[in-house]
Amino acid sequence: MAWDFSTEPEFQAQLDWMHQFVADEIEPLSLLWPEYHHAPAPPWLRDVIDPLKEQVKARDLWACHLGPDLGGSGFGQVKLALMNEILGRDIWAPTIFGTQAPDTGNAEIIAHYGTEEQKERYLQPLLEGEVFSCFSMTEPQAGADPKLFRTRATRDGDEWIIDGEKFFSSNANDAEFFIVMAVTNPDVSPYEGMSMFLVPAETPGIEILRPTTLWGEDPDHGVIHPHLRYEDVRVPADSLLGDEGQAFVIAQTRLGGGRVHHSMRAVGVATRAFEMMCERALSRHAHGSVIADKQLVQQMIADSWSQIQQYRLFVLHTAWTIDHSGGTARVRREVAAIKNAGARLVHDVVQRAIQIHGALGVSNEMPLGGMWLQAAMYGIFDGPTEVHTVTVAREILKGFRPADGLWPSEWLPEKLAAARAKHADTLDAQARAEGSSPER
Ligand SMILES: Cc1cc2nc3c(=O)[nH]c(=O)nc-3n(C[C@H](O)[C@H](O)[C@H](O)COP(=O)(O)OP(=O)(O)OC[C@H]3O[C@@H](n4cnc5c(N)ncnc54)[C@H](O)[C@@H]3O)c2cc1C
Repeated sequence: MAWDFSTEPEFQAQLDWMHQFVADEIEPLSLLWPEYHHAPAPPWLRDVIDPLKEQVKARDLWACHLGPDLGGSGFGQVKLALMNEILGRDIWAPTIFGTQAPDTGNAEIIAHYGTEEQKERYLQPLLEGEVFSCFSMTEPQAGADPKLFRTRATRDGDEWIIDGEKFFSSNANDAEFFIVMAVTNPDVSPYEGMSMFLVPAETPGIEILRPTTLWGEDPDHGVIHPHLRYEDVRVPADSLLGDEGQAFVIAQTRLGGGRVHHSMRAVGVATRAFEMMCERALSRHAHGSVIADKQLVQQMIADSWSQIQQYRLFVLHTAWTIDHSGGTARVRREVAAIKNAGARLVHDVVQRAIQIHGALGVSNEMPLGGMWLQAAMYGIFDGPTEVHTVTVAREILKGFRPADGLWPSEWLPEKLAAARAKHADTLDAQARAEGSSPER
């Protein structure tokens, strides 16, 4: 299988354009209107962002995350990874490119599992960037372990009735519709007893109990991750997404490719922090020299660069493997590992960038605080680090088996005995030549 680390010149030109476009046209949006990066924009703001989206569409770079079978560009994971590296540099960029979470994952599962009617009603507006959606899975009492979810959906004639509470249902206030995960059969294993539902936001019975926000964010402006109650929420029978009992399978579909994209966005965040770190190191003087001359500062720079390069290649190799093996099934181990290593990368590089900036680094005059928050979030959303670590170890251990006997297979006394038996004649010859008795 060929290995190639180069990017096609035509696609590189697209990436170069994206890089410049994000810096020149999108970063100003984040400085002026961060609260709208994932919310319906008012008309005066649409006058600015709609032409930007048109430019992206004109270059065939809009909503590229879907595969060709689902109406997407068919770029493949490597190209998407390279695009996401750039999109990770700015919070507004995914929205302008039609690839903002959770809408991307939601679009992916509707495209995979939705009926034609569901696609027409929910997928099309989502792909056109005209609506926002909400993925409502985590509950107040459980997140990392979906087997503990309690929200119930019960069948009542031609309807399903949903009852329960959810937590961290991002964008619930702005969503046109919700994808809700609920127990439909408590008598079988949760892997077979949970289902997904498409629920229009205007359905009676959905209540925001608390508009939870992230550190430093204002519940009146921007994204909220609320605690929700679903009480006697009635939806028609055909609101089921996929088959009854298929929620776990659908949730996995949602996360496979998306984790690779998030990982490259982590590279984007870390690279931006790294660039700031280098510039500051060359600009700031202390104790007789520019701080870039201090060996401990140099170590931070060298370690950060190495970590970014290693991680970037790991993610790109995973993306390449997906492209060449036809899906995410073969890279379960890799996808879990990059999810974890991405959280560590952003944590380490952003922390060093803050340190090198001194007090300025922890002030709100640099964007490092937001990046520091992302470092914490990377270790939690889409499943916490510990859970993925278990997956990595389990997948690795599938390739090994216990030693046959009491001693490890690399136990030297046994290996030495086997080597001596294999070369007994030569050992005899050596002993004769050296006038000693052969070692047995
Ligand atoms: C920014 C952000 C946006 C989010 N958006 C959404 C959304 O739109 N929709 C949605 O449904 N959810 C969303 N979530 C929630 C996210 O999916 C959950 O936070 C995640 O699944 C973890 O669940 P939890 O927070 O309940 O942690 P818990 O399940 O309470 O776990 C807490 C901690 O326990 C430890 N732990 C758990 N399991 C294990 C284990 N097996 N081994 C060792 N340690 C373990 C880990 O340290 C873990 O961090 C979002 C989260 C964030 C941060």
